[in-house]
Amino acid sequence: MPLQRKTKLFLIYLAAVLVLLITGASIYMYPAYKFFFNTEVQQADKDLTLVLGGGGNSGILVTDRAVLVIDTKMGSDADDLYKLVKEKAGTKKIIVINTHYHGDHLKGNHLYKGCQIYIGDYDRTFLQKEVDADDMPNAFVNDSLVLDLGSETVVLYDLGQAHTWHDLVVYLKNRKMLFSGDLIFHHVNPVLKKESGADVDKWIAVLDLLLKKPDIQQIIPGHGDIDGKEMAESLKSYFADMKTAAKDPSRADELKKKYEDWTELPMMASPQRTIDYISNSGK
Ligand SMILES: [Zn+2]
Repeated sequence: MPLQRKTKLFLIYLAAVLVLLITGASIYMYPAYKFFFNTEVQQADKDLTLVLGGGGNSGILVTDRAVLVIDTKMGSDADDLYKLVKEKAGTKKIIVINTHYHGDHLKGNHLYKGCQIYIGDYDRTFLQKEVDADDMPNAFVNDSLVLDLGSETVVLYDLGQAHTWHDLVVYLKNRKMLFSGDLIFHHVNPVLKKESGADVDKWIAVLDLLLKKPDIQQIIPGHGDIDGKEMAESLKSYFADMKTAAKDPSRADELKKKYEDWTELPMMASPQRTIDYISNSGK
């Protein structure tokens, strides 16, 4: 075969391999892309706007006395959220709540200068190491706190260690609705980080607690679409299955298969990562 033809064939082969690789990587990365960068604004009712995706899910609640922002996102999604908040707030006071300290829920805090910014009762030294000074919350919820906002009553509960050392949930009493932060990942594999304090057994106990509360009818998860309390049930089953797989590796494939349609986050979250996390924590 003439050398030129060989080179041509090789180049065609190389191009085909590249196309396949890029297509494969795109299909694999798309759910993660959607997870981090795609936002969807939903008007839940006249006073409550949900901004789902683009990092953690966020909420904007307009009340008589103030406008409440639950989780501030990061990067340009944080800027977009802030614009929307300002539009809705006008001259009203803005109050910010962070469900936990992870960047995709809090790295927009610096936009809310002079506002009260609530978070759970983390060790302050830990938080200072983990959070940029500009994004640092300035109000800490120890146990629970009721915000009486005239037309709305909102209750914040620090549920302690589960996804992180101090996960905070936000309960909108009028709607029987809970912003769970990352205590609920909906059809998304949960992120577990040792340095964040993620503890599967404590997390299961918190899910049990939520399931026992009759006053919760709807949950806005930290990631994924809104739904009812059954999300807590399915995340509990997920953890139980991954615990079984960690104890009995011969069942791992069969159990992982049950969660094939749950979004995986490359390098961050997958059934195998959860199994490894449980095995490494010796539970
Ligand atoms: Zn998180």
